[in-house]
Amino acid sequence: MSRPAILGGAPAFPDGLPFARPARPPLERVVERLRPSYERGTLTDGPLVRELEAQVADRLGVRHVVATSSCSSGLLLALRVLAPGRGAVVLPSFTFSASAHAVAWNGLEPRFAECDADRFQLDPGDAERRLEGAGTLLPTHVFGAPCAAERFEELARRAGIPLVFDAAHAFGALRRGRPVGGFGDAEVFSLTPTKPLVAGEGGLVATRHDEVAERLRWGRNYGNPPGDYDTRFVGLNARMSELHAAVALEALAGFEAHLARRRELAARYHTHLEQIPGVSAQAVDPDDSSTYKDFTVAVEPEVYGIGRDALVSALRAEGVDTRCYFWPPVHLQQAYAPAATVDLPVTVHVAHRVVSLPIYPDLSEAAVDAVAEVLARLQRAGPDVDAAVAAGSRG
Ligand SMILES: *Cc1c(COP(=O)(O)O)cnc(C)c1O
Repeated sequence: MSRPAILGGAPAFPDGLPFARPARPPLERVVERLRPSYERGTLTDGPLVRELEAQVADRLGVRHVVATSSCSSGLLLALRVLAPGRGAVVLPSFTFSASAHAVAWNGLEPRFAECDADRFQLDPGDAERRLEGAGTLLPTHVFGAPCAAERFEELARRAGIPLVFDAAHAFGALRRGRPVGGFGDAEVFSLTPTKPLVAGEGGLVATRHDEVAERLRWGRNYGNPPGDYDTRFVGLNARMSELHAAVALEALAGFEAHLARRRELAARYHTHLEQIPGVSAQAVDPDDSSTYKDFTVAVEPEVYGIGRDALVSALRAEGVDTRCYFWPPVHLQQAYAPAATVDLPVTVHVAHRVVSLPIYPDLSEAAVDAVAEVLARLQRAGPDVDAAVAAGSRG
């Protein structure tokens, strides 16, 4: 049995195993797709953007899709349009900072709520307790697994407030067979390189409301209705360029295979993890399909024998790149210092234990097997690994 690299053995991945690799559609196809717009001189917000919006609306079964320059700008506008001046927004702290930034940029107050310990999703019970006097509810579909969308719909309906989902990770996810994108008043996807559907940069806002869609379209163009320079509200430039739409359209053409591949690799990780006590993958409701934007595990040090941070160091020694999504949770980040007084023990517990492992379409089965073998080998060497990491951080 070979020794872990952190104890002097040969690394499992001498050339390194990257954490993420964007799924890029073939360049020639992107160029062909872009050519008509480019030659005509339509570089932004043109026919390719319209086509992307139509294809995605069709795929999701949602009335409107409005493409934006990013998920961040889509979230900004969704809150601006749906919740102007409506005070506190209840959202998870266990999410990416951009969810909260969209709240803060609108001059609204982020009110952080707990996630649950197994799914890592906004906890509906805890969110409900914090809804008193709040103006908006903003859950995230964490790591591409759907959150309890119908429960949040019920909460928002009872409170009479808008419901916006940060669906940055979740393009292609299904909640009990229904595509994510059709829940709440709006759902916002991201098309950055680490997200399932890639444009380079970009966002997609899905909504069933005609008026919301119209105002989102004005909002992404400074607040101007078409052909009018009399802005109706303070918008911004959040248009998507034709180049980004061309990349996204080609990525969409190959998307089913991409998603299937992620799910295959996740299933393989799951099978291996059954043999490794103390390392458990994010729980996904059995009737749901995750995109596996991330394959995230929680490490229980008492059972696995090694803590999360030591595991990350040991994996780095093997050449395996990982990310501790989401540490620190947003309420503990410096930008949200005034919120640090909120007590979110489950969130902090989860955020201390999670680590995301490499997953992307061109990751090989052999690489997944080798990562799992490393996890098992590190467990067998447990106390020695902890000691080596402690010595390393002292030295
Ligand atoms: C990536 C991400 C965003 C921001 O998306 P951009 O397209 O980069 O603006 C928002 N929320 C979550 C949860 C994300 O992971």
